[in-house]
Amino acid sequence: MTKYIPTIWLEIHVRIKSETKMFCSCKNAVALASEPNMNVCNICMWFPGMLPNLNKEVVRLWLIWGMMMNCEVNKKSRFDRKTYFYPDNPTAYQITQMYEPIVWKGFVKTLVNWIERTFAIHHMHLENDAWKLIHAGWKTLLDFNRAWSPLMEIVTDPVFHDRDEVMEFLRELQKLMRAWWVSDADMEKWQLRCDVNISIAPEWSLKLWSRTETKNVNSFMAIGRVIDHEIKRQKSVIEKWWIVDQETRWWNDDSWTSTTLRSKEDAMDYRYFPEPDLLPVILSDEFINDARKLIPELPIEKRIKYLWVYKLSEDDARILTTTRELSEYFDNLVELTWDSKKSCSYMTSVLLAMMNESETIKNILDLKFDIKELAKVIDLVNRDELSSTNSKQVIEELFNNGWETDIIVDENNLRQKNDTDALEKIVEQVLLDNASQVADYKSGNENIFWFFVWQCMKASKWAWNPKIFNELLKKKL
Ligand SMILES: [Zn+2]
Repeated sequence: MTKYIPTIWLEIHVRIKSETKMFCSCKNAVALASEPNMNVCNICMWFPGMLPNLNKEVVRLWLIWGMMMNCEVNKKSRFDRKTYFYPDNPTAYQITQMYEPIVWKGFVKTLVNWIERTFAIHHMHLENDAWKLIHAGWKTLLDFNRAWSPLMEIVTDPVFHDRDEVMEFLRELQKLMRAWWVSDADMEKWQLRCDVNISIAPEWSLKLWSRTETKNVNSFMAIGRVIDHEIKRQKSVIEKWWIVDQETRWWNDDSWTSTTLRSKEDAMDYRYFPEPDLLPVILSDEFINDARKLIPELPIEKRIKYLWVYKLSEDDARILTTTRELSEYFDNLVELTWDSKKSCSYMTSVLLAMMNESETIKNILDLKFDIKELAKVIDLVNRDELSSTNSKQVIEELFNNGWETDIIVDENNLRQKNDTDALEKIVEQVLLDNASQVADYKSGNENIFWFFVWQCMKASKWAWNPKIFNELLKKKL
């Protein structure tokens, strides 16, 4: 049977989370205006004689983003005008950096099934967003809130050959965006859209066969479904000795099927020409170097550190790098506790679970208590002054009401010097770890008894009187 190799590439559009729009000082629409046409001015409403004014902050954000994507920087770049009419585009043109962008090329590094991989970017540029049409009965209204908001387009090289690679790439891209607040990249909120290009060819083929582009994919899960579905569909076409139509398809995520949207597309003539209302962008070395200094530690670097240095599980390393805030909190906690394992488990299975349940506290930055208080909890647990069951009660109190760990522990009488439960656990563990000595003892070598006491004392960091262990051991042995 013929083996088919899928080749996949993505075209991604992302709403940028800059403070202001790209060509005026209006607030960017991502900050969510409460009503239509709130964040507008003479410039973004195209009043006669008004000219776009490139925003330096957007350029800086874009430059840092490009460097995080390992791009080359173009000291001189320019904007072009792309001409097309559409009802949500009253100017009949879009301003884009398609041909000479500030940054270009680049790649994303990630882990696919534990293996380090890099995926190349074909091009990446900035352009302005369209307007919003609101259909109200017989009328159609125009909302200019996001007119001239920055939009990014990223097109990858045809570098993916299965869905795992695509999913890991997208997750990494999302983390990268969140690491520099470029965008929250939330697909459900339409901050990130993704068109999926797929082409399959028999293993022996030296070139790509015809491809399809699937649009209207609005969740990560749906992208996986599109890939599975389209590979299967193209295979069935080829196996009938037909040719896959080069076309754009429309995904229906309710029925998990796709239909033809447009077929046989040729490159449309958008009459690109240099944007006459904007000067070329020239970046000084100083501006570039200052931006370079702001690049944070990338999520993948953190993840590799969590996996190989801190020895966390893959799931935990992934969760803790979901956002920059989360990973920075974790790093700070480890710095205070010197205990990466416990810091991780208290964050992932206690703190994040509470945030999940909470109606009000969804961001780690909104916690009511200082990080030192959580570090203190971990420290008390490590010194056996607080049982792990009680530690959860303390964290719950911190989470709900703030306050201080020591006060909560003492007021609730949770500080334990003689916690029999904890001591019994230590004794059990020592006996378990030293099975051959136990057997030795049971066969009559009573001298070895003090060995067990010593081990228990060591395991409890010499916090208890050996007499207690003496009694417990006698009971257990
Ligand atoms: Zn404006």
